Amino acid sequence: MICIAIANQKGGVGKTTTAINVGTALAATGQRVLLLDLDPQGNCSTGLGIGRAERERSTYDLLIGETSLEDVAVPTRVPGLDIVPATVDLSGAEIELIEFEARTHRLSTAIDRSEARWDVVLMDCPPSLGLLTINAMVASDALLVPLQCEFFALEGLSQLLTTVERIRGRFNPGLSILGVVLTMYDRRNRLTDQVADDVRAVLGKVVFDTVIPRNVRLSEAPSHGLPALIYDYRCAGSEAYIALAREVIDRLPKLKKAA
Ligand code: ADP
Ligand code: MG
Repeated sequence: MICIAIANQKGGVGKTTTAINVGTALAATGQRVLLLDLDPQGNCSTGLGIGRAERERSTYDLLIGETSLEDVAVPTRVPGLDIVPATVDLSGAEIELIEFEARTHRLSTAIDRSEARWDVVLMDCPPSLGLLTINAMVASDALLVPLQCEFFALEGLSQLLTTVERIRGRFNPGLSILGVVLTMYDRRNRLTDQVADDVRAVLGKVVFDTVIPRNVRLSEAPSHGLPALIYDYRCAGSEAYIALAREVIDRLPKLKKAA
C-alpha cells in the first residue's frame, strides 16, 4: 500500500481537485484506491457525492479513535475508489490530538493496523501545516504538491519543504517528494507562463510535465458530486488529470515501500 499526501498549506491551489481526479484515474487503471479526507471542510467527500448520512465514521475516528481503515472506509460511485470522509468534528481534532503522546503518529498507526486492502492511499490535506498535515506526512511514502501558477507560488513552497525536512529528520526518513504539479494554468496570462518557467528552473525534474489548465468543468464537477473525469471526461481538465495520473504511475515504483 503506497501512501501519498497531497499537501500545500495554501488554500485553493487544487489539492482536493487533484485528490479526486488522480484518485479516479488511478482507479480506472485497476488500482484499488482509498482517499482520506483530512480537511474539516470535507470538500473531497462532498465532491464525491458522499452525503452527511454516509459520514457516520470519518477520518476523525482514525485519528482520535482506535479504528482501522477498513472500519471507516465507504465506497464512492467510482468503481475501485473508496473514501474515508471528513466531518466537522475534524476541526477540533488538532486540539484533541495534543492530548496524545504519539500525536504525530495517530494516522500512521491506524494505517499500520489495516490489512492493506488498497494499492494506493491518497490523503487530501487541509490548508495548513498543523497536526493533521503532519499526521499525513508521517504516514506517507511521498508528497504530491499542487502549486498554483501565481506570483507567490514559490514562497509558500519553501515553508512546505522546510516542514518536509523536519518530518524526515524526526519521524519519517523515507518521505519523498513524488512531484510538484502546476495547477490553474492560464495560457492567456503571460504571468502564469513566467511563473511556470521559474518553478521549473528552481525545482527541475520534480515538477511534472503535465500542467493542469484553468478549466471551468473542473470547478463545476464537485457540485454534481462527481469527479470531473466522470462528469466530462473529454474536457481539457480531465485530459490533463489523466496525463498526470500516467506520470504518477510511472513514478510509483521509485518509492521506497513500493520496491
Ligand atoms: P484546495 O483543496 O487546495 O483548497 P481545490 O481543489 O478545492 O483547492 O480548488 C479550489 C477551487 O478551485 C475549487 O472551487 C475548485 O473547484 C476550483 N479549481 C481547482 N482546480 C481548478 C482548475 N484547474 N481550473 C478551474 N477551477 C479549479
Ligand atoms: Mg481542499
